[in-house]
Amino acid sequence: KRLGWAVVGLGSYAINQVIPGFLQAEESRMTAFVSGNPTKAKDLADRYGVAKTYGYDDFDKIAADKDIDCVYIVLPVGLHAEYTIRALKAGKHVLCEKPMASTVEECEAMVAAAKAANRQLGVAYRVHFEPLNTEVKRRCKQGELGDLRYITGDAGFNADPQYPPMKWRLDKPLAGGGSMYDIGIYALNGTLMMADQMPDTVSAVYAYPKDDPRFKTVEGGLNWRMTFPSGLSAQGSSSYCYAGGSRIKVFGASAAINMDPASDYYDNRANLHRGWDPGTPVRAAPPYTQFAAQVDGFSQAARSNTPHRTPGEMGLRDIRLIQAMYRSADQGGVVVKV
Ligand code: NAD
Repeated sequence: KRLGWAVVGLGSYAINQVIPGFLQAEESRMTAFVSGNPTKAKDLADRYGVAKTYGYDDFDKIAADKDIDCVYIVLPVGLHAEYTIRALKAGKHVLCEKPMASTVEECEAMVAAAKAANRQLGVAYRVHFEPLNTEVKRRCKQGELGDLRYITGDAGFNADPQYPPMKWRLDKPLAGGGSMYDIGIYALNGTLMMADQMPDTVSAVYAYPKDDPRFKTVEGGLNWRMTFPSGLSAQGSSSYCYAGGSRIKVFGASAAINMDPASDYYDNRANLHRGWDPGTPVRAAPPYTQFAAQVDGFSQAARSNTPHRTPGEMGLRDIRLIQAMYRSADQGGVVVKV
């Protein structure tokens, strides 16, 4: 039996990626849409054969809806904690979009609410369900590169303040943070996915034109570093000011893998080289999209009530690290122990 899902927030990512992902899913089906716009919710529900719609005011009524097992939060970041906790209190399992929430305290409250409700909480780090990323992780873990020495990761785009989904992203109460929260988190989370170990220090500097009118409340760019007890080090960047792209390069003692793009929706690429050679492509056959694989993975976690591959604790870890980076950058780049 497929688990039933409510999709909360019908914005651009929900409509263009999340909903189409469900159409390919094998263990998950959409049973409700939640939106502040009843006409949009009804139109989309009719189009996708979804039986029920809810508004934000009557959201708590989902508690009595037996057709909803899981709730997918696809709202602006500043609303993640509130709706995640309400859904957990309604007895549902929750997959929440990245970044998990605005503050460490909110993330901790979400993890605590999941424990209290005995329900699963996942953060939607989709590349953990993307075949090329999981193949690179497997090769790193199996030692194909030798001991890991250095990882770089960059993720950003040039933010158009007129694009509607960008408006809340440039407004701290709804965004939580700036480029590092929204897009740089891919390079940070991807670096830790490949490293499979925790850093002991972080440092960062802000990197964007300070007179840029887009960045009144959130940062437009951040360059960061991490060191690890093993001797591994990593550095990367996030930006709302450079041409869109994402890449991660993992250097081991005997080989390196370059992923570029690393966190695209549909077309990631990776190349393995052992020295100065041009290298060979890393291949992984996608069984179905990362969007479908992610919701099916969460349905399995919910069904067995065992932790999702990217649990709330991982989302909390990343917000803690980004907040430590902000503390470092606020002090001009001092090294912060984590
Ligand atoms: P969006 O602005 O297109 O959609 C947000 C939706 O929330 C809209 O339908 C809007 O009406 C609704 N909303 C409800 N209350 C609101 C309020 N008070 N202010 C503003 N909007 C409100 O944004 P999006 O790009 O779809 O992002 C939604 C979530 O998805 C975010 O958490 C974002 O980080 C995440 N996201 C993830 C990925 C990914 O690859 N995993 C990609 C894009 C976005």
